[in-house]
Amino acid sequence: MARSSSPLVNKASPTEASPTEQRRLLRARRSSKRVTALRPEAVLDATLPGTEQQDDPGVIAAATAPKRDATLSDETLAVHAGEKMGKNGAMDTDSIATPIVSGTTHWFKSSHDLIAFKEGRRHSFEYGRYGNPTVKVLEDKISALERAESTLVTSSGMNAIVATLLALVPPGAGHVVTTTECYSEARAFIGDKLSKMGIKVTFIELNDMETLKDVLDQGDVTLFYTDCPTNPHLKCIDIKLVAELCHRKGALVCIDSTLASPMNQKPLTIGADIVVHSATKYIAGHHDVIAGCISGSDALISRIRAWNHDLGGAISPDAAYMIIRGLKTMALRVETQNHTTLRMARLLENHPKIERVYYPGLISSPWHHIAKSQMTGCGGVISFEVASDLHGVMRFIDALEIPFIATSLGGCESLVQQPAVMSFWGRVMRRRPRMGSRTTW
Ligand SMILES: *Cc1c(COP(=O)(O)O)cnc(C)c1O
Repeated sequence: MARSSSPLVNKASPTEASPTEQRRLLRARRSSKRVTALRPEAVLDATLPGTEQQDDPGVIAAATAPKRDATLSDETLAVHAGEKMGKNGAMDTDSIATPIVSGTTHWFKSSHDLIAFKEGRRHSFEYGRYGNPTVKVLEDKISALERAESTLVTSSGMNAIVATLLALVPPGAGHVVTTTECYSEARAFIGDKLSKMGIKVTFIELNDMETLKDVLDQGDVTLFYTDCPTNPHLKCIDIKLVAELCHRKGALVCIDSTLASPMNQKPLTIGADIVVHSATKYIAGHHDVIAGCISGSDALISRIRAWNHDLGGAISPDAAYMIIRGLKTMALRVETQNHTTLRMARLLENHPKIERVYYPGLISSPWHHIAKSQMTGCGGVISFEVASDLHGVMRFIDALEIPFIATSLGGCESLVQQPAVMSFWGRVMRRRPRMGSRTTW
């Protein structure tokens, strides 16, 4: 961008030209002949306005291009998509960093202006719970990365999941099919709460396609919901196949793609109708903000958005800005996580004191084939079983120097957790003694 500014600003030291001389040179710049007479290199600059775009068409075009331009890389989209708030008319600014619009409400110039907004003739934001310019930038950026028409950013991943299920599955008539292995709180919400709202719930094994077909044959399934990959065993479901089976029977497919991140998997491009993320994880990427997002068609996302207005699940503009900032390095972070985790998985697989490693990037993984067909990397979570008992695993964990003992994933710091302690303490001794040998990294 430097080339489009005045050559003097870039190339002459401030002391060389007086303000008067600068003005004279600026006038001269309008004619390329006179510029030639002044400084040969200025000719280049003088002919450049407009042509600077040819230097790096990807970067320049990204900010103004349609958000789903398939020719732009994810690395470029993560930085540029959705930005240029000023150029999009939402705000009078030429700040490169997206401003945090902290106002909770937006004013109108006149009643006619308000009516124009109500009738959709003028784009604006009315009240913070319904939408916010900073949050909109984040939503457009995620849409670009997921190849979605629309995205709703919410206050947490659980908020995204609950809003999606409440909006898309009618109480009293709906039927949700989900998998026994699935994010535990989502599974509990579906099993304990949705079923009390008169919604039929069926659990199937993750890859039991025959049972899925049988359940779909009942003809009343509204929505299929699962994680891919799952946490903590990183099992993968064939999203394309599931979508084909479900769509034949009129059921929607919703995939929680948190463990893949938008860099490694794009469920919407292989048939899913809705993709949700805990944006707390890879998307924000720094263990410092809780958020969720839902992407899909305009029609489905507006139904979920309307529900989320009632739930009050709006994210704060400050948190949205943190995620916009985090997203700019997501491509770099996730690529590094893909590589280091695969190296670690191979190392652990060959270690005599490790019984078993769960990572779909390993050729030995039963999920490798599916992962390879729908993912471009397997992410930064790995599970493994240490050849020891509960206390031996605790000793192993406590001896680790770099990872923090903490739950979550996808941030810059390495975390380690032993589900027997982190998730099942209090239940483990009584009901799940075998979990003592499991360790999740
Ligand atoms: C963390 C997580 C969630 C919940 O997200 P929050 O942001 O904590 O509400 C949902 N699904 C998966 C797969 C997760 O890892």
